[in-house]
Amino acid sequence: MFLKRLDVAGFKSFADRINIEFVPGVTAVVGPNGSGKSNISDAVRWVLGEQSAKSLRGSKMEDIIFAGSDNRKPLNVAEVTLTLDNEDQHIPLEYNEISVTRRVYRSGDSEYLLNKQQCRLKDIVDLFMDSGLGREAYSIIGQGKIEEILSSKSEDRRRIFEEAAGVLKYKTRKQKAEQK
Ligand code: ATP
Ligand code: MG
Repeated sequence: MFLKRLDVAGFKSFADRINIEFVPGVTAVVGPNGSGKSNISDAVRWVLGEQSAKSLRGSKMEDIIFAGSDNRKPLNVAEVTLTLDNEDQHIPLEYNEISVTRRVYRSGDSEYLLNKQQCRLKDIVDLFMDSGLGREAYSIIGQGKIEEILSSKSEDRRRIFEEAAGVLKYKTRKQKAEQK
């Protein structure tokens, strides 16, 4: 499984629709301070279901919608689509390509789509849990994250290893079953 493409529209500094094709090898994003490099990784975490506005460097979810600039009006909707190559069936879905879309309106309405079909946040979280690509997975290491891993409590660190080992899914299901 690998990232193939990211489409972003109305998300943070990206007023116009942009798409990034991830070709084989390493993709590096370079640019001056404040040009939107971190906004790209925020878009990846957001589409995978990130719920914390703070961790997306805002104070409320609406802050991720393009807020306008000197010569552009604010937008009312933000949309991100992440397309993954799944030819190796790493994600247990019988599709060679999987696309996840998240959309949020200024009114607060939001939607998630899996291969263009509406779905719930839970479907996305469950699908990616233990794949190594979940919203809290170790595949996205943010600024300051390494320090956090080193200094976090042992239970938090254990969670990171459990996700890496692929057992988090079973543990979460067990906890949910026990709560019932
Ligand atoms: P650095 O090199 O300092 O890490 P960067 O390239 O990672 O910079 P980002 O943090 O991705 O930059 O982008 C910050 C820019 O995004 C700021 O100019 C900020 O005004 C803009 N921005 C963030 N949210 C919005 C929004 N909702 N609408 C418009 N612009 C936004
Ligand atoms: Mg940055």
